[in-house]
Amino acid sequence: MPIIGIINQKGGVGKTTTAINLAAGLAQQRRVLMVDLDPQANASSGLGIIDPEKTIYDVLTGDVAARQAIVKSDLENLYVLPASRDLAAAALELDASEESLNMLKKALMAVRPLFDFIILDAPPSLGALTINTLIASDSLVIPLQTEYYALEGLASLVDTIKRIRSSYNPGLDILGILLTMFDSRTKLSQEVEDNVRKHFGKKVFWTVVPRNIRLAEAPSYGKTIFDYAPSSQGAATYRRLAEEVMQRVNQDD
Ligand code: ADP
Ligand code: MG
Repeated sequence: MPIIGIINQKGGVGKTTTAINLAAGLAQQRRVLMVDLDPQANASSGLGIIDPEKTIYDVLTGDVAARQAIVKSDLENLYVLPASRDLAAAALELDASEESLNMLKKALMAVRPLFDFIILDAPPSLGALTINTLIASDSLVIPLQTEYYALEGLASLVDTIKRIRSSYNPGLDILGILLTMFDSRTKLSQEVEDNVRKHFGKKVFWTVVPRNIRLAEAPSYGKTIFDYAPSSQGAATYRRLAEEVMQRVNQDD
Protein backbone atom coordinates (compact mmCIF):
# COMPACT_ATOMS: atom_id res chain seq x y z
CA MET A 1 0.00 0.00 0.00
CA PRO A 2 1.29 3.40 -0.97
CA ILE A 3 2.99 6.37 0.60
CA ILE A 4 1.22 9.41 -0.85
CA GLY A 5 2.85 12.86 -0.77
CA ILE A 6 0.57 15.90 -0.82
CA ILE A 7 2.74 18.36 -2.63
CA ASN A 8 2.87 21.86 -4.13
CA GLN A 9 5.57 24.41 -3.33
CA LYS A 10 2.90 27.13 -3.29
CA GLY A 11 1.43 27.86 0.13
CA GLY A 12 -2.29 28.15 0.79
CA VAL A 13 -3.47 25.79 -1.95
CA GLY A 14 -5.12 23.25 0.36
CA LYS A 15 -2.31 20.75 1.02
CA THR A 16 -2.77 20.51 4.76
CA THR A 17 -6.57 20.53 4.56
CA THR A 18 -6.29 17.69 2.07
CA ALA A 19 -3.67 15.75 4.06
CA ILE A 20 -5.84 15.83 7.19
CA ASN A 21 -9.19 15.08 5.61
CA LEU A 22 -8.01 12.60 2.99
CA ALA A 23 -6.19 10.73 5.76
CA ALA A 24 -9.36 10.80 7.88
CA GLY A 25 -11.50 9.72 4.93
CA LEU A 26 -9.22 6.77 4.21
CA ALA A 27 -9.14 5.89 7.93
CA GLN A 28 -12.86 5.09 7.78
CA GLN A 29 -11.85 1.93 5.93
CA ARG A 30 -8.10 1.56 6.31
CA ARG A 31 -5.28 2.04 8.79
CA VAL A 32 -3.62 5.37 8.06
CA LEU A 33 -0.57 7.32 9.19
CA MET A 34 -0.36 11.07 8.52
CA VAL A 35 3.16 12.49 8.64
CA ASP A 36 3.51 16.25 9.14
CA LEU A 37 6.55 17.65 7.29
CA ASP A 38 5.74 21.34 7.65
CA PRO A 39 7.48 23.31 10.46
CA GLN A 40 4.21 25.23 10.84
CA ALA A 41 2.78 21.94 12.17
CA ASN A 42 -0.75 22.79 11.00
CA ALA A 43 -1.57 19.21 10.11
CA SER A 44 -0.59 18.10 13.63
CA SER A 45 -2.59 20.76 15.45
CA GLY A 46 -5.46 20.24 13.01
CA LEU A 47 -5.61 16.66 14.22
CA GLY A 48 -5.57 17.81 17.82
CA ILE A 49 -1.88 17.05 18.47
CA ILE A 50 -0.36 20.00 20.33
CA ASP A 51 3.11 20.02 21.93
CA PRO A 52 3.98 16.43 21.03
CA GLU A 53 6.73 14.84 23.04
CA LYS A 54 8.57 13.39 20.03
CA THR A 55 8.31 14.71 16.50
CA ILE A 56 9.42 14.14 12.93
CA TYR A 57 12.38 16.39 13.78
CA ASP A 58 13.69 13.78 16.23
CA VAL A 59 13.13 11.13 13.57
CA LEU A 60 14.93 13.01 10.77
CA THR A 61 17.89 13.79 13.00
CA GLY A 62 18.13 10.08 13.78
CA ASP A 63 17.45 10.48 17.51
CA VAL A 64 14.35 8.30 17.64
CA ALA A 65 12.74 5.66 15.44
CA ALA A 66 9.57 6.70 13.58
CA ARG A 67 7.59 4.22 15.64
CA GLN A 68 8.43 6.04 18.87
CA ALA A 69 7.13 9.38 17.58
CA ILE A 70 3.79 8.11 16.26
CA VAL A 71 0.70 9.06 18.28
CA LYS A 72 -2.94 8.08 17.95
CA SER A 73 -5.45 10.70 16.85
CA ASP A 74 -9.02 10.91 18.15
CA LEU A 75 -10.16 8.99 15.07
CA GLU A 76 -10.04 5.22 15.06
CA ASN A 77 -7.34 3.97 12.65
CA LEU A 78 -5.74 7.38 12.17
CA TYR A 79 -2.20 7.87 13.51
CA VAL A 80 0.02 10.94 13.37
CA LEU A 81 3.75 11.51 13.18
CA PRO A 82 3.64 15.15 14.27
CA ALA A 83 5.85 18.14 13.55
CA SER A 84 6.81 21.17 15.59
CA ARG A 85 8.56 24.47 14.89
CA ASP A 86 12.02 22.99 15.39
CA LEU A 87 11.53 21.14 12.11
CA ALA A 88 12.69 24.35 10.40
CA ALA A 89 16.11 23.67 11.93
CA ALA A 90 16.13 20.12 10.59
CA ALA A 91 15.46 21.51 7.12
CA LEU A 92 18.68 23.53 7.43
CA GLU A 93 20.68 20.64 8.85
CA LEU A 94 19.73 18.34 5.99
CA ASP A 95 22.29 18.87 3.25
CA ALA A 96 22.28 17.72 -0.35
CA SER A 97 24.02 14.42 0.41
CA GLU A 98 22.31 11.24 -0.71
CA GLU A 99 21.97 10.24 2.94
CA SER A 100 20.17 13.45 3.92
CA LEU A 101 17.79 13.28 0.98
CA ASN A 102 16.84 9.69 1.87
CA MET A 103 16.31 10.25 5.61
CA LEU A 104 12.52 10.21 5.50
CA LYS A 105 12.30 7.22 3.19
CA LYS A 106 14.64 5.28 5.44
CA ALA A 107 12.79 6.32 8.59
CA LEU A 108 9.41 5.23 7.22
CA MET A 109 10.64 1.84 6.03
CA ALA A 110 10.17 0.22 9.42
CA VAL A 111 6.61 1.52 10.00
CA ARG A 112 5.37 1.03 6.47
CA PRO A 113 4.07 -2.52 7.06
CA LEU A 114 1.93 -1.25 9.96
CA PHE A 115 -0.30 0.94 7.77
CA ASP A 116 -2.42 0.68 4.62
CA PHE A 117 -1.76 4.30 3.67
CA ILE A 118 0.86 6.82 4.70
CA ILE A 119 0.01 10.44 3.84
CA LEU A 120 2.81 13.04 3.83
CA ASP A 121 1.91 16.72 4.26
CA ALA A 122 4.72 18.64 2.51
CA PRO A 123 5.79 22.20 3.32
CA PRO A 124 5.39 25.13 0.87
CA SER A 125 8.88 25.07 -0.65
CA LEU A 126 11.09 22.97 -2.87
CA GLY A 127 13.66 22.61 -0.08
CA ALA A 128 15.16 19.59 1.67
CA LEU A 129 11.91 18.51 3.38
CA THR A 130 10.02 18.53 0.09
CA ILE A 131 12.80 16.61 -1.67
CA ASN A 132 12.71 14.08 1.18
CA THR A 133 8.94 13.84 0.64
CA LEU A 134 9.36 13.26 -3.12
CA ILE A 135 11.92 10.53 -2.53
CA ALA A 136 9.86 8.81 0.18
CA SER A 137 6.59 8.87 -1.84
CA ASP A 138 5.26 6.24 -4.21
CA SER A 139 2.63 8.58 -5.51
CA LEU A 140 1.70 12.27 -5.38
CA VAL A 141 -1.46 14.30 -4.97
CA ILE A 142 -0.98 17.87 -6.24
CA PRO A 143 -3.61 20.32 -4.93
CA LEU A 144 -4.22 23.29 -7.23
CA GLN A 145 -6.29 26.23 -6.09
CA THR A 146 -8.87 27.15 -8.74
CA GLU A 147 -7.71 30.73 -9.15
CA TYR A 148 -6.15 32.72 -11.95
CA TYR A 149 -2.55 31.75 -11.13
CA ALA A 150 -3.33 28.08 -10.49
CA LEU A 151 -0.78 26.76 -12.98
CA GLU A 152 1.97 29.15 -11.98
CA GLY A 153 4.81 27.17 -10.43
CA LEU A 154 3.45 23.86 -11.69
CA ALA A 155 6.11 23.64 -14.42
CA SER A 156 8.94 23.88 -11.90
CA LEU A 157 7.23 21.30 -9.69
CA VAL A 158 6.90 18.92 -12.65
CA ASP A 159 10.60 19.53 -13.50
CA THR A 160 11.58 18.71 -9.93
CA ILE A 161 9.47 15.53 -10.01
CA LYS A 162 11.20 14.46 -13.23
CA ARG A 163 14.63 15.07 -11.70
CA ILE A 164 13.76 13.06 -8.60
CA ARG A 165 12.43 10.27 -10.81
CA SER A 166 15.58 10.01 -12.87
CA SER A 167 18.03 10.25 -9.96
CA TYR A 168 16.36 8.68 -6.95
CA ASN A 169 12.82 7.40 -7.30
CA PRO A 170 12.04 5.93 -10.74
CA GLY A 171 8.62 4.63 -9.62
CA LEU A 172 7.33 8.03 -8.47
CA ASP A 173 3.90 8.54 -9.94
CA ILE A 174 1.41 11.42 -9.96
CA LEU A 175 -1.77 9.89 -8.56
CA GLY A 176 -3.72 13.00 -9.43
CA ILE A 177 -4.11 16.77 -9.55
CA LEU A 178 -6.76 17.97 -7.11
CA LEU A 179 -8.71 21.17 -7.75
CA THR A 180 -9.40 22.96 -4.46
CA MET A 181 -11.37 25.95 -3.17
CA PHE A 182 -13.69 25.80 -6.15
CA ASP A 183 -16.19 28.66 -5.98
CA SER A 184 -19.29 27.78 -7.94
CA ARG A 185 -20.47 31.40 -7.87
CA THR A 186 -17.60 32.57 -10.05
CA LYS A 187 -17.01 31.98 -13.72
CA LEU A 188 -13.29 31.98 -13.01
CA SER A 189 -13.36 28.71 -11.03
CA GLN A 190 -15.11 26.96 -13.91
CA GLU A 191 -12.69 28.43 -16.46
CA VAL A 192 -9.70 27.29 -14.44
CA GLU A 193 -11.21 23.80 -14.08
CA ASP A 194 -11.83 23.55 -17.83
CA ASN A 195 -8.31 24.72 -18.58
CA VAL A 196 -6.65 22.31 -16.13
CA ARG A 197 -8.73 19.38 -17.44
CA LYS A 198 -7.86 20.31 -21.02
CA HIS A 199 -4.13 20.28 -20.17
CA PHE A 200 -3.97 17.30 -17.84
CA GLY A 201 -6.96 15.16 -18.79
CA LYS A 202 -7.38 12.03 -16.70
CA LYS A 203 -4.60 13.10 -14.33
CA VAL A 204 -7.12 15.46 -12.72
CA PHE A 205 -9.27 13.94 -9.97
CA TRP A 206 -12.93 13.82 -10.83
CA THR A 207 -13.60 15.04 -7.27
CA VAL A 208 -13.29 18.83 -6.89
CA VAL A 209 -13.03 20.40 -3.43
CA PRO A 210 -15.43 23.34 -3.05
CA ARG A 211 -14.71 26.43 -1.01
CA ASN A 212 -16.41 25.43 2.24
CA ILE A 213 -16.16 27.43 5.45
CA ARG A 214 -16.47 24.28 7.59
CA LEU A 215 -13.20 22.99 6.11
CA ALA A 216 -11.47 26.19 7.22
CA GLU A 217 -13.03 26.13 10.71
CA ALA A 218 -12.44 22.47 11.63
CA PRO A 219 -8.66 22.68 12.36
CA SER A 220 -9.09 25.36 15.02
CA TYR A 221 -11.09 22.77 16.98
CA GLY A 222 -8.42 20.12 16.35
CA LYS A 223 -10.99 18.11 14.41
CA THR A 224 -11.26 16.60 10.96
CA ILE A 225 -14.23 17.58 8.83
CA PHE A 226 -15.87 14.23 9.65
CA ASP A 227 -15.99 15.04 13.37
CA TYR A 228 -16.57 18.77 13.06
CA ALA A 229 -19.26 18.89 10.35
CA PRO A 230 -20.09 15.37 9.12
CA SER A 231 -22.99 16.48 6.95
CA SER A 232 -21.16 19.40 5.32
CA GLN A 233 -20.28 19.59 1.65
CA GLY A 234 -16.63 19.45 2.72
CA ALA A 235 -17.12 16.10 4.45
CA ALA A 236 -18.98 14.65 1.46
CA THR A 237 -16.19 15.81 -0.85
CA TYR A 238 -13.32 14.31 1.14
CA ARG A 239 -15.29 11.06 1.51
CA ARG A 240 -15.54 10.95 -2.30
CA LEU A 241 -11.88 11.82 -2.69
CA ALA A 242 -10.89 8.94 -0.39
CA GLU A 243 -12.95 6.58 -2.59
CA GLU A 244 -11.36 7.96 -5.74
CA VAL A 245 -7.86 7.63 -4.28
CA MET A 246 -8.53 3.98 -3.32
CA GLN A 247 -9.80 3.29 -6.85
CA ARG A 248 -6.77 4.89 -8.49
CA VAL A 249 -4.36 3.06 -6.20
CA ASN A 250 -6.01 -0.26 -7.06
CA GLN A 251 -5.84 0.50 -10.79
CA ASP A 252 -2.11 1.15 -10.46
CA ASP A 253 -1.45 -2.29 -8.95
P1 ADP B 1 -1.47 24.69 2.36
O1 ADP B 1 -1.22 23.56 3.28
O2 ADP B 1 -1.29 24.35 0.92
O3 ADP B 1 -0.70 25.92 2.73
P2 ADP B 1 -4.06 24.90 3.66
O4 ADP B 1 -4.71 23.58 3.57
O5 ADP B 1 -3.42 25.26 4.95
O6 ADP B 1 -3.04 25.09 2.46
O7 ADP B 1 -5.15 25.98 3.25
C1 ADP B 1 -4.86 27.38 3.26
C2 ADP B 1 -6.03 28.12 3.93
O8 ADP B 1 -7.22 27.93 3.19
C3 ADP B 1 -6.33 27.62 5.33
O9 ADP B 1 -6.74 28.70 6.11
C4 ADP B 1 -7.47 26.64 5.13
O10 ADP B 1 -8.30 26.53 6.26
C5 ADP B 1 -8.21 27.26 3.97
N1 ADP B 1 -8.85 26.25 3.11
C6 ADP B 1 -8.27 25.18 2.55
N2 ADP B 1 -9.14 24.48 1.80
C7 ADP B 1 -10.32 25.15 1.88
C8 ADP B 1 -11.63 24.96 1.31
N3 ADP B 1 -11.88 23.94 0.48
N4 ADP B 1 -12.60 25.85 1.62
C9 ADP B 1 -12.34 26.90 2.43
N5 ADP B 1 -11.15 27.14 2.99
C10 ADP B 1 -10.14 26.30 2.72
MG1 MG C 1 0.24 23.28 4.76
